[in-house]
Amino acid sequence: MAESTLTQSRIPCLDLQGQHKQIKEEVFAAWEKVYAQTAFSGGPYVEAFEKEFAQYTQTQFAVGVNNGTTALHLAMLVLGIGPGDEVIVPADTFIATAWGVSHAGATPVFVDCTADTWEIDITKIEEKITSRTKAIAGVHLYGQPFDIDGVMAICKKHNLYLIEDAAQAQGARYKGKEVGGFGEMACFSFYPGKNLGACGEAGGITTNNEAHFKHLCSLRNHGSTVRYYHDEIGYNYRMGGLEGASLSIKLKYLEGWNNRRRAIAKRYLSEIKTPKIKMQHQPDWADSIFHLFVITTEDREGFMQYLNGHQIFPALHYPVPCHLQKAYAHLNYKPGDCPNAEYLAAHCVSLPMFAELTDEQVDRVIQAVNLY
Ligand SMILES: *Cc1c(COP(=O)(O)O)cnc(C)c1O
Repeated sequence: MAESTLTQSRIPCLDLQGQHKQIKEEVFAAWEKVYAQTAFSGGPYVEAFEKEFAQYTQTQFAVGVNNGTTALHLAMLVLGIGPGDEVIVPADTFIATAWGVSHAGATPVFVDCTADTWEIDITKIEEKITSRTKAIAGVHLYGQPFDIDGVMAICKKHNLYLIEDAAQAQGARYKGKEVGGFGEMACFSFYPGKNLGACGEAGGITTNNEAHFKHLCSLRNHGSTVRYYHDEIGYNYRMGGLEGASLSIKLKYLEGWNNRRRAIAKRYLSEIKTPKIKMQHQPDWADSIFHLFVITTEDREGFMQYLNGHQIFPALHYPVPCHLQKAYAHLNYKPGDCPNAEYLAAHCVSLPMFAELTDEQVDRVIQAVNLY
C-alpha cells in the first residue's frame, strides 16, 4: 500500500477545474457578447437566466441577485420581517441562513436536526414558536430536501411563512417536484462551489407570487422601478451580466452534473460497508443532488489523517453549529441545546464529491474508507 500511495494523485473534496475546462469556450464566447454590449450589471443576460431558472425550478418568477446571502436578506424584507421578529432556522446549516434573518434586524431561533437525516427536526419546532415568530427558513442540507410537508403543516397551523434555503439544492426534488416552489420564496446561491455556480458571485430567489417578484426586483435595485425615483430604502444587490451569462450555460449541464453526483453517491451508499461510518439517511421522498457527501465517524481526526495518507483530502461542513458560533454568543445558547447538530459538527467529514471524479477515484475512496 505504502508504495502505491506515493504515486497516487490527490483526490480533493472539491475541484472546479474539470467543469470549467469543459465549458471554457462556450463561456468565453458568451462573455464576448456581454462585453460587446457592455451589459455588465443586470441586463439581457441576467434576464435570460432568470427566465431559464424559473422554468427549471417550475416556478413563475426568478430574480437574480449578487449572492445567496443577499437573496435570503431580501426574502425576509419582502415578508416584512424585521426588528422584534423571530425566524426558525436549523442549527446545522451554513451560517448564511441565519445572516439573512440577522441582516433584516430579526432574530434567528435555532432548532436541532434529527439524528439520522440531519435535516430540521419537525418535532422540535413548535416548542420554539412564540408570538414573535414570523417564518421558518428550512434548509435543503447538503442537497437533500428537508421534510417540506411536515414543516408546511406547522407553518399553516401557526400562520408562519415558509422560506426555502435551496442554496445547496439546485435541481433536488421533493416527492418528485423540484425544490424552489414550495414556500413563499426560495433562496439560491450560485457561489462557484455550489452545484450550479456562476463564474463569480451570484444568487437568486424563486417565487410564484407576483407581488413578491416585483418587490424583490425593486429592492435589489435601490428600491427603484423608475430610474432615479426611489420608493423605499433599497439595496444594490444586482447580479452581474458576466455571471448571468455563465449561469445560462452551466444550467444546461446541471442535470447531467447532478446525475453524475447521484451515481457517485449511490456507489458510496451501497459500497461503503464499514460500521465505523454513518451516512445521511435518505428518505424515499428526497431526491438529493449531493452538493456534499457528509458522513460521521467517532474518531474524526484519525479518519482524516488516515485518508490524507491515501492522498484523499476530505473537508468539514460544518465544524461549529450556528447556535454556538461566536457571532451569536449574545443569544446565550449553550452546548447541549441542539445535541444532534452538535454531534454532527464534532463528527462530520465530507468525502470527495463532484461530477468530474473518475470511477477510479471513486474506487479509491471506497476502498480506503472500507479498509479504515
Ligand atoms: C452557500 C450558502 C448560502 C449563502 O450563499 P452565498 O452565495 O455564499 O452568499 C446560504 N445558505 C446555505 C445553506 C449555503 O450553503
